[in-house]
Amino acid sequence: MDELNGWRRTHYSIDLTPNCDGAEVIVFGWVASIREQGGITFLILQDREGILQITIRKDEVSPSIIKKVKGLREHSIVAVKGRVRSIEKAPHGAEVIPKEIKILALAQKNPPFKLFSKTQPSLDKRLDLRAVDLRRPVNRAIFKIRHHTLAAIREFFLKEGYWEVNTSKIIATATEGGAALFPILYYDKEGFLAQSPQLYKEQLTMAFEKVFEIGPVFRAEPSRTLRHLAEITSVDMEEAYVNYEDVMMTLSKLTQYVIQALQTRCENELKLLNVKLETPKLPLKRYTYSEILEILNKEGEYVKWGEDLPTPALKILGEKLPEFYFITNWPTSSKPFYIKPCDDNPEICEAFDFMYGSIEIASGGTRVNSKRLLIKKLKEQGLKPQLFEYHLKLFDYGMPPHAGFGLGLERLMMVLTKRENIREVTIFPRDRLRLTP
Ligand code: ATP
Ligand code: MG
Repeated sequence: MDELNGWRRTHYSIDLTPNCDGAEVIVFGWVASIREQGGITFLILQDREGILQITIRKDEVSPSIIKKVKGLREHSIVAVKGRVRSIEKAPHGAEVIPKEIKILALAQKNPPFKLFSKTQPSLDKRLDLRAVDLRRPVNRAIFKIRHHTLAAIREFFLKEGYWEVNTSKIIATATEGGAALFPILYYDKEGFLAQSPQLYKEQLTMAFEKVFEIGPVFRAEPSRTLRHLAEITSVDMEEAYVNYEDVMMTLSKLTQYVIQALQTRCENELKLLNVKLETPKLPLKRYTYSEILEILNKEGEYVKWGEDLPTPALKILGEKLPEFYFITNWPTSSKPFYIKPCDDNPEICEAFDFMYGSIEIASGGTRVNSKRLLIKKLKEQGLKPQLFEYHLKLFDYGMPPHAGFGLGLERLMMVLTKRENIREVTIFPRDRLRLTP
């Protein structure tokens, strides 16, 4: 095996075009394929950005290079120092004639799937070898889109004057209902992994007014569905002096901003995934919870007023409403304790879900900012106000009216990349059956 020593990359594969003809370059990557044809060896080198043809002809390279690449297995890591030659038939119109090749790591085994094959083995098999699986062009496309989605989300919030914050992921009490928590041993006490930054981001409106957080949250989901994981990336925002109407508008603009960014920054990746992203027109469509029940009823799916929407109901919405939309005016009893009931009818509340077809992408709303009401609502939901003393006491020092949302990044990625299974858009998914890799 060779050592890296002083070699450093001069170009990524796709940077080599006919314009580079004659240039001396150093490229790195893994072997995507290697074949001999009429005495010439074609080594296709792949890096993060694409592929590159390395052409090894007896009359152009030293015999030691030919010996070196003989029997080289796919996925081995190589470095090539050589000269670029423009050639029409090669990918992006250029090949590299090697002067020197280093083998930096030898692949010992063939993985149980091919990089470029259309047929794929089961997702589980691929996840078991996830980092190798990520070399497949489809996955590079999905995660490049994820990277640019995150970048665009940050840009949007910074442009709109939000501060980025991080809150603790080790917490003392549940915020979204007790069942879905992972307990941890915290020194000699019991703690939990945070299922949301909810109360912390609300508290931060007291001092920072407009905040956002992008971070992990943990849900001890007992069910195994195509849209639930035990660990997700949550995009949260919270803002003082606004209500759920303002927040819905902010979320709509954020969605528009992200899609426009992807249209220009990830054109090739979207094409590879066969996804056409249309810029949604604002304002986005809105339905009240009661209107949604009517739509469902007409389709023969009866949901009792007050209940959450069950999976068969969501499936129908997937067919009837294949677009971004909001569901508003939820029954107060179906939403967490911190959501503000409507002033004129406390049976319904100032909450919304942000949807695309059957997929819930985000939930948000106006928050309760009266201490008395919050205590009453905690009790109504069977939670002990004493456990929330660390939060409730802040209300004695002036809590501004505020509102916000929490958005599941993986759910958004499912919609943006048109993937059915949330595991496809998660680098290392965690569910009931999977704790590795
Ligand atoms: P669902 O009804 O789909 O289970 P939820 O209403 O329980 O979600 P919220 O508490 O509203 O979830 O969390 C805010 C957002 O976080 C959701 O809209 C969703 O995008 C995402 N989310 C929540 N739980 C999960 C999970 N287990 N896996 C993936 N995403 C999740
Ligand atoms: Mg929700």
